[in-house]
Amino acid sequence: GSAQIGVTGLAVMGANLARNLARNGYTVALHNRSVAKTDALLDAHGTEGDFVRTETLAELVESLEKPRRVLIMVKAGGPVDSVIDALVPLMEPGDIIIDGGNSNFQDTRRREADLAKKDLHFVGVGVSGGEEGALLGPSIMPGGSKESYDALGPLLEKISAKVDGAPCCAWIGTDGAGHFVKMVHNGIEYADMQVIGEAYDLLRSAAGIEPAAQSEIFAKWNEGQLASFLIEITAEVLGHVDAKTGKPLVDVIVDSAGQKGTGRWTVQSGLDLGSPISAIAESVFARGLSSQRDQRAIAQGVLAGHEVAVELGADFVEDVRQALYASKLISYAQGIDMLQSAAIEYNWDLKLDEIASLWRGGCIIRAELLKDITKAYAAAEKPANLLFAPAFAAEIAEVLPAWRRVVSTAVQLGIPVPVFSSSLAYYDGLRRPRLPAALTQGLRDLFGAHTYNRVDVEGTFHTQWSGDKTEISAVDTH
Ligand code: NDP
Repeated sequence: GSAQIGVTGLAVMGANLARNLARNGYTVALHNRSVAKTDALLDAHGTEGDFVRTETLAELVESLEKPRRVLIMVKAGGPVDSVIDALVPLMEPGDIIIDGGNSNFQDTRRREADLAKKDLHFVGVGVSGGEEGALLGPSIMPGGSKESYDALGPLLEKISAKVDGAPCCAWIGTDGAGHFVKMVHNGIEYADMQVIGEAYDLLRSAAGIEPAAQSEIFAKWNEGQLASFLIEITAEVLGHVDAKTGKPLVDVIVDSAGQKGTGRWTVQSGLDLGSPISAIAESVFARGLSSQRDQRAIAQGVLAGHEVAVELGADFVEDVRQALYASKLISYAQGIDMLQSAAIEYNWDLKLDEIASLWRGGCIIRAELLKDITKAYAAAEKPANLLFAPAFAAEIAEVLPAWRRVVSTAVQLGIPVPVFSSSLAYYDGLRRPRLPAALTQGLRDLFGAHTYNRVDVEGTFHTQWSGDKTEISAVDTH
């Protein structure tokens, strides 16, 4: 065979990645379970490059040069396993099976281990950018062995987005590292969207600024510190008028947010790692609450508000912008902290500067801010937390007063700002010299003899609460 790569699964993402590869000069063999999709793609776009039409996986594999590279773009979950099972007997040692779907990183780790036993490379690749990104240049996060990246990296880098000439694609780490980083990207995306929503709600409900005027505010914000894809499209959505009613579109959309699961996975994984990703968790919970429409309807008639009237400062809009920026920084700091915990737990050598850099283009969370995050982790002295990088510590200090004002105003007016407020709690929690966790430890020792450490003496201790209340040295039983 002479095709350089095969793609199986030609729905939106697979078709667009195949076209992207072909437009970049690669010969691409095409396969889909139902042949109709393959033919539809060839009919519509067959002249864009060199495609090889195949009807079966055996034909697909047959058409490829060695080592073979097969990109699977089918529905995540069981379908990926069935396609792998069908491919394996057709492949030879050294061949590469690539999964570019939104697979759970634990599935990727399992599949990689299974295929490694058969001397096949399995590469889980995180792809972000949606339909348009897949076609024009996504952000690409490949895991798998370093060796497989030598054979695959050049193709992926070629079709990825570019920022300042650099590809938004780099080898992330072994087995499931690529899918893990893509998952955290999506978690940050949830938080990014939630803080934008909180800013919108404050401007609307506290300051009475209509969507059309807000569209201009967001467009202006997109020229500064907050410049990013999500702020840009917020201006677009808020400026859009519904053709049917003449109302702002945002007013005719049902206020229950959907989710496809990657945010939930991020939170589940954060809990497993003991990583305090409160901004991402609150964002997932906020979508969940929005979807409890029955309870929300009952609450209208049952739950009191007792809002407190507050005078908004003259700079309220600017205050909200600063609070939004601060909360956004926290969600990135927490997401990166989770990456650091995962690197230890799963034995990945994650390069945080490269990850921040490849998120600068193609993907949904692409933002100006990522340039400075890249710089912070490229420095000789890497900060233990993003917020400790001198540039970010200074930025947070600058916006902190506005952030505190906005959260107090929101609380008094009864406007929920779960990420603005929990991010501030995270920030203050980090700073606080003494936390009430000391009391928690005392309580745990009383009811469960869970023991505690002392600030003044090494060792583990227990107070004999039900006896004479003297302290004894104890074995740590947490
Ligand atoms: P879908 O997730 O809708 O999957 C449809 C494709 O899977 C079709 O080609 C279908 O074949 C194939 N398929 C389903 N079940 C099987 C099976 N048992 N055996 C063989 N083939 C099967 O496609 P998308 O293009 O939307 O997404 C592909 C992957 O990319 C998913 O993992 C998705 O989460 C991920 N992704 C999607 C993004 C998006 O914006 N849509 C963005 C980033 C990632 P058939 O035509 O024969 O039914």
